[in-house]
Amino acid sequence: MFQKLIITIDGFSSCGKSTLAKQLAKRLNYTYIDSGAMYRAITLYFLRNNVDLAKEKEIRHALKNITLEFVVNETSGSSEIYLNEENVEYIIRDIVIAEKVSDVAALKDVRTFAVAEQQKMGIHKGIVMDGRDIGTTVFPNAEIKIFMVADEAVRVERRYAEMFDKNPNITLDEIKSNIAMRDYIDSNRKISPLRKADDAIELDNTHLTPKEQLDFALKLVKNIGAPA
Ligand code: C5P
Repeated sequence: MFQKLIITIDGFSSCGKSTLAKQLAKRLNYTYIDSGAMYRAITLYFLRNNVDLAKEKEIRHALKNITLEFVVNETSGSSEIYLNEENVEYIIRDIVIAEKVSDVAALKDVRTFAVAEQQKMGIHKGIVMDGRDIGTTVFPNAEIKIFMVADEAVRVERRYAEMFDKNPNITLDEIKSNIAMRDYIDSNRKISPLRKADDAIELDNTHLTPKEQLDFALKLVKNIGAPA
């Protein structure tokens, strides 16, 4: 039997990474892992517990009290993140978390913790993981690495449509500045900054439909001889 693959999808905020990752995982019968949800859940814990980001000892202590798990929702069929056994899938999408998450994700101890958890999830392969450093740091030997890009205006529109349902008071400007801020911090942090792995394939999905982007990715799977 053909060995299952590790597929990584990295890129800037709101490029459509999770849409593609979910499509691919469903099609290949792989597990989808949203690494961004892990950083968001850690951020939620830090905010709730007033963890001071300037104090390493506090951060380490807090991380010891965090358990993260993905559980498939039987009704929707999609995987949802649990923080210490509480389903936080919905709450972590709030703008309050989005405003803080990149600062939290830039911390050394937080990255060490999250990367170790992510690597454990990939032990049996058969995963599609999206994020910022999955192809460079978490799984540098992944069989398929995709780096997604899309025009800024399209990214802002997409995120706005996603956020509007939850928060109709949100403005395009708020979304635009949050995306710009996160991209800046994510690309300029010292540890594992967002960048395209040398062996990643770039996918610009500005003008692609979900089906077209899935076909693009499936071609990469077929090209290495794996069932798709
Ligand atoms: O993917 P999502 O937008 O939910 O990610 C939220 C934040 O988590 C990113 O802006 C980034 O700061 C951080 N992140 C990261 N490394 C990853 C995934 C997400 O630093 N692999």
